[in-house]
Amino acid sequence: MIYMDHAATTKTSPAAGRAMTAAMEEVWGNPSSLYRLGQRAAEALWSARERVGACIGASPGEVYFTSGGSESDNQAILSAARVGAGKGKKHIISTAFEHHAVLHTLKKLEREGFEVQLLDVHENGLVTAEEVEAALREDTALVTVMYANNEIGTIQPIGEIGALCRERGVSFHTDAVQAAGHLPVDVKGQSIDMLSLSAHKFGGPRGVGALYVRRGLPLLPLIEGGAQERGRRAGTEDLPAILGMAAALEESCAHMEETARRVSALRDRLMEGLSKIPHSVLNGDAVRRLPGNVNFCFEGVEGESLLLLLDDRGICASSGSACTSGSLDPSHVLLAIGRPHEVAHGSLRLTLGEENTREDVDAAVAAVTDIVAYLRNMSPLWKDKVSGKKEFVI
Ligand SMILES: *Cc1c(COP(=O)(O)O)cnc(C)c1O
Repeated sequence: MIYMDHAATTKTSPAAGRAMTAAMEEVWGNPSSLYRLGQRAAEALWSARERVGACIGASPGEVYFTSGGSESDNQAILSAARVGAGKGKKHIISTAFEHHAVLHTLKKLEREGFEVQLLDVHENGLVTAEEVEAALREDTALVTVMYANNEIGTIQPIGEIGALCRERGVSFHTDAVQAAGHLPVDVKGQSIDMLSLSAHKFGGPRGVGALYVRRGLPLLPLIEGGAQERGRRAGTEDLPAILGMAAALEESCAHMEETARRVSALRDRLMEGLSKIPHSVLNGDAVRRLPGNVNFCFEGVEGESLLLLLDDRGICASSGSACTSGSLDPSHVLLAIGRPHEVAHGSLRLTLGEENTREDVDAAVAAVTDIVAYLRNMSPLWKDKVSGKKEFVI
């Protein structure tokens, strides 16, 4: 099997697995309990907070553990919106190609009377700080722009947007779920007020993540109950998962540069191989993208068919995001960068991880090249294009 869907999830790393097993055996007490077993768990929990914080430039008191990226996004946005509304600010700026955890939360706020402004994304998959600046208003409560896009991998100018928001006194949240553990994150240097991350995107377990909130900013709870996470997130902490996340993040951050160098060389080889397929186009900037992300559209091909045939050859890939597969709507990200519906349907995302090899890449290029040709040969529409009865789009 060749796994090329690391943006969907990653295999739990051995270090994370060991940390989780050790936690279940040794610190299984409730961190809120006063006896020593509980207090040992509380200390382990705090050490995880320090370690996760250290990887992103935050102090431990600024790190809140959650159930993952979706919860962190929901809480950050809803909290900032409610706090803003309390001061009469009900305008929110974001982009058209955010993850659904952000977009659906914003839709909900819109139904509650907030004004949500989604910035257009350029064809290269980037937004600029100038565009954010032009959208800022006196009543802007929040700017939320993702660090790296989960479908096309493009990396936004987060530091510039952060500095701008800081200068104007507007809260800035970034969904860094695809970036954490893969790209440098420095919440202080990049002037980030709130940041979401998720363990299973960097070798940690599923169902756990973190929300960084800058000291002094209010954070309203999403889940009511006990006083865990300093009253900001009720529910007994999943300490094994949290320790697994801390181990995975530390490991990823320790090897970040070296992994990025190796994986981006594989990515470039994969992009070069796939770009030889006629009537194909790379989605997103060729350089300003995540080390492991490759995303192409192939004209005249149905993304889902391509995936099934790749699976037959043992290659795990994705078309659009896992969240939209199962519906026939084309990816909102590809539409946001201006791909026509017809082209957006023929998309393929291959996301590499550190265990992928050159042989994997060459096998994937050969398989995709074959399958695209096979699918096009079967299509009457493709025959019309080849004979000139219909026009090619790309
Ligand atoms: C995966 C992902 C999420 C959701 O994270 P979960 O931990 O699966 O809830 C949010 N945003 C982005 C950009 C993602 O890639």
